[in-house]
Amino acid sequence: MASKKVIAVFGATRAQGGSVARSLLDGKHFAVRALTRDMTKPSALALKDLGAEVVKCDLDDEASLVAALKGVYGAFLVTNFWEYLDQEREVHQGKLMADVAKHLGLKHVVFSSLEYVHKLTGGKLTVPHFDSKGEVEEYFWSIGVPMTSVRVPPYFENFLGVWKPVKASDGDYYTLKLPMGDAPLDSISFVDAGIIMSDMFNSPEEFIGKTVGLSAEALTMQQYADILAKNLGKDIRDSKITPEAFEKMSILGAKGLANMCRFLQKRPDRNIELTRRLYPKVKSFQQFVSENLEAFKNV
Ligand code: NAP
Repeated sequence: MASKKVIAVFGATRAQGGSVARSLLDGKHFAVRALTRDMTKPSALALKDLGAEVVKCDLDDEASLVAALKGVYGAFLVTNFWEYLDQEREVHQGKLMADVAKHLGLKHVVFSSLEYVHKLTGGKLTVPHFDSKGEVEEYFWSIGVPMTSVRVPPYFENFLGVWKPVKASDGDYYTLKLPMGDAPLDSISFVDAGIIMSDMFNSPEEFIGKTVGLSAEALTMQQYADILAKNLGKDIRDSKITPEAFEKMSILGAKGLANMCRFLQKRPDRNIELTRRLYPKVKSFQQFVSENLEAFKNV
């Protein structure tokens, strides 16, 4: 029997890459090479138990990239801006990966990208964690790597962490603090995004050369608040915070996140219909909340 084609998966030990790796392993069409800087961490060992080959690789280290990608058919790439809060470093990592993919002749790279907002808005808005990925995406296209660029919208999972309802200081209620105004915000569970991205390796003819915007659904902040309130039995409201007020808050990357919301308010292309076609079982926010009720109760 011919051996399976190998897909190298960056970020396999965590969110997006973890879902891509698991989904590829479930699908059984491809072998998975899970890349990590630390092969001893529990999530790396768990992937090994599921049948992945776990290989040490650091996106900052060219020699490790070349070694880890040798012989693979394709790769899933996600770079993590938030690990270093360093736009230049993320660009460097992505371009290095593009060069190695080109040099080794990879047949399909699925890249978790985002828009080059600074360029698209003529310099009016800077969103470091988008701009870095947008610049890398342009580089991938320019050197001719067979690539699919996927725009993953904010995760539902953010509402369990960085976007969790915050207790109000002036009463017995909670607020969501994201400056989206009345504009709907596209979102998805990173698990479902990973499943969809992993499936793209099965249809290279459909996806190579394409840019795909994912979204399970688009709700206003008040609608997210209403769903959380109904399920958790708490008074949860949209804070109606403005981008101007948000960027003055002492949170990590506040200015970039405020600009991200200004950009997302203009509804960049995130295709709910396509997302549902690609994965009919994609979860709605309501489903996500009811399936994670215990976790939500503990935030
Ligand atoms: P995550 O769960 O925070 O995990 C980060 C992964 O990146 C880990 O598996 C880590 O692997 C790997 N990694 C970090 N630095 C690395 C390096 N130098 N070399 C190799 N691997 C490295 O990440 P995620 O949420 O899947 O993806 C993060 C990215 O998603 C961010 O850039 C963010 O902008 C983007 N994004 C986030 C959202 C959202 O709503 N949060 C939505 C769309 C896009 P090891 O530690 O095992 O080496």
